[in-house]
Amino acid sequence: MAVLPIRKIGDPVLRSRSKEVEEITDKTRELIDNMIDSMEAADGIGLAAPQIGVLQRVIIVEIEDDLKVTINPVAVTKKGEAVAEEGCLSVPGKTGLVKRAEEVTITGLNAQGEEVKYELEGLKARAFLHEIDHLDGILFVDKALEVKEEEPEMLE
Ligand code: ZN
Repeated sequence: MAVLPIRKIGDPVLRSRSKEVEEITDKTRELIDNMIDSMEAADGIGLAAPQIGVLQRVIIVEIEDDLKVTINPVAVTKKGEAVAEEGCLSVPGKTGLVKRAEEVTITGLNAQGEEVKYELEGLKARAFLHEIDHLDGILFVDKALEVKEEEPEMLE
């Protein structure tokens, strides 16, 4: 387990598309451990594998002490619209208002390789959508209605 440096905007790894995880191996488990350590060290509420330089479709979200590891996450349904402020560990010192779905259904695998399905709303829905964007090389500043130079309250 290790705390790894978080890649910052300008690093091409953040603009690449991550690959599906075909098999959960010891390497995948090590990646997940490193993601958790790195996110917690940086005081974030979410992290995607490319943020520590690994182009695999793995995300973690930790909100209200509920840590969810999701492998190959897909937002299968989206409902409604909400605009709220976001910040990103890979975009230091900036915040932006981003329009996203208010409710989402996410499918994927957990760290044990079991199929999961989450019905989420509000901040949790937003965090999952933010992290899934990272897997497709998208950063919140690409979508933000406006970007401000300001330390965010929550970092993803
Ligand atoms: Zn982010």
